[in-house]
Parts: sequence; structure tokens; C-alpha cells
Amino acid sequence: MADRSLRGMRLGGQSLQSEEGVVFSPRMTHTYLCSTCGKETEMVFSADAEAPDTWECKFDSNEAILMIGSDVVVLDRAEAKVPRSHWDMLLERRTRAELEDLLQERLDYLRARRGQQKIGA
Ligand SMILES: [Zn+2]
Repeated sequence: MADRSLRGMRLGGQSLQSEEGVVFSPRMTHTYLCSTCGKETEMVFSADAEAPDTWECKFDSNEAILMIGSDVVVLDRAEAKVPRSHWDMLLERRTRAELEDLLQERLDYLRARRGQQKIGA
């Protein structure tokens, strides 16, 4: 049974025919330069996908950086490592003195509440 269906496929040539109709999605090869060993790692991505800025070096697993032409891309590390914190945003809206007032208010409130709980317990 299985043998017959396999032979039927081969005789009909269906697998060959369907292969002709397959549309391969466009691919792009991106080169990553390892900053440790200096070797290049090539990766193939779908052309419509955005290649990541870094990839793992296939020789020593260190970080390899995407190359555009003969240069590596500039990694915006400062931006990535130090994102604007909530604290920074807070300081844009309020002065430090205001914040200290708020903090004091909040501390007073918490202390009062803790005091109440102690009395209640
Ligand atoms: Zn490497």
C-alpha cells in the first residue's frame, strides 16, 4: 500500500512539478564581524526582515557586529544601556525641593499608618 503510493508519486512526477511552482522568498546575506577574533560570520535572513545589529560569532561565540559594506554598524550602546529612567522623567516635571516635600509627606503618612497599626494590634 505504502509502496504503491510512493511509486505513483514518482511516476506522476507531481513532486517535481510542485517544486517548480515554489516561490522562494528573497534572502539577504548579512556579514557580522567578530570584535574578538576578527572573523566574519555570514547569516542569511529573509530580505524583508531587519537584521539584528549583533550576532553570535560562529567561531568563538563572542559578539559579532553587523557590517554595512566594509564598516560595522555603530551600536548605540549609551542609549541602550542607560535608558531614561523614571527618575529622569520625574525630575523634568518636578523640582528636587518639590520631590523632597512629597517624600516627607509620604514618609509622615507611612509612619502615621504604621503607628496606627501598632496601636490597633
Ligand atoms: Zn569570533
